[in-house]
Amino acid sequence: MEVLRTVAELRQWSRALRNAARADGGHTIGLVPTMGALHAGHASLIRAAKASIGSVAVSIFVNPTQFGPNEDYARYPRTFESDCALAAAEGADVIFAPAVEELYPAGASTFVEVEGPSDRLDGASRPGHFRGVATVVAKLLIAAEPDRAFFGQKDAAQVAVLRRMVADLRLGAEIAVCPIVREADGLALSSRNLYLSPAERIQALTLSRIIRQTEAMVAAGERSAATLIAAARESFAAVPEIRVDYIELVDWATLQPAEVAAPGTLFAVAAWVGATRLIDNTILG
Ligand code: AMP
Repeated sequence: MEVLRTVAELRQWSRALRNAARADGGHTIGLVPTMGALHAGHASLIRAAKASIGSVAVSIFVNPTQFGPNEDYARYPRTFESDCALAAAEGADVIFAPAVEELYPAGASTFVEVEGPSDRLDGASRPGHFRGVATVVAKLLIAAEPDRAFFGQKDAAQVAVLRRMVADLRLGAEIAVCPIVREADGLALSSRNLYLSPAERIQALTLSRIIRQTEAMVAAGERSAATLIAAARESFAAVPEIRVDYIELVDWATLQPAEVAAPGTLFAVAAWVGATRLIDNTILG
């Protein structure tokens, strides 16, 4: 498995496959964007890509523009060697691991603003976050020209922002969304789980417990957003070590608040466990 470092190399890889496809017919290209510190959640995306697509590029890039000034950019886990091993084991064809200056050349001043969804959920508590995400994913999609790009439902608000961006810019890639991969006890896998102390790891289970509680209430017939959110708030309050960031029921496309839990609405929570901000969600059936 080759490691590509420049946009030109990635574009050349993708275009060579396309040209070959003209001769042998129907070769497709998949892209799995990540920030590295790969875990079973990322692995599931690579596996899904490999199962439905001819050739798969996995990008590993800790994107500085999606971190706020007081966030964890500098200490974000970087585990490149083991990431390559995991990606190779799942069948990735190439890794794209550019330096920061490759994606943001000196003087870079072009950014992608997806107005609307970018100011909601994580975008509300992390100003500029989705501007950074949209910008880097646009750069990756323009460079790799994939048929399909794979994202996790774990970052459901990110999916809403990127779907809007791809539609607006007519980028042509299909956005595929893969289910949230969880630990046996329910905790959603996240590279940031590495930050949790043993005590915080137990407190962190509150998020997935509240997701399950909400799913159960909806399954039992509850539809009111106010009631579902109040119940979640009460459950969070029982764990005083946790500071709630948001509890929201929204339309998954626009991220605007929904008053009732209709099929396809997104119930999402974010909370601080110690110094670590965790998120979890469910798409209601
Ligand atoms: P990240 O490296 O955190 O930027 O994540 C890269 C991709 O992996 C994003 O599309 C995430 O939504 C996805 N991802 C992260 N954690 C999980 C998980 N537990 N289950 C499924 N996908 C995930």
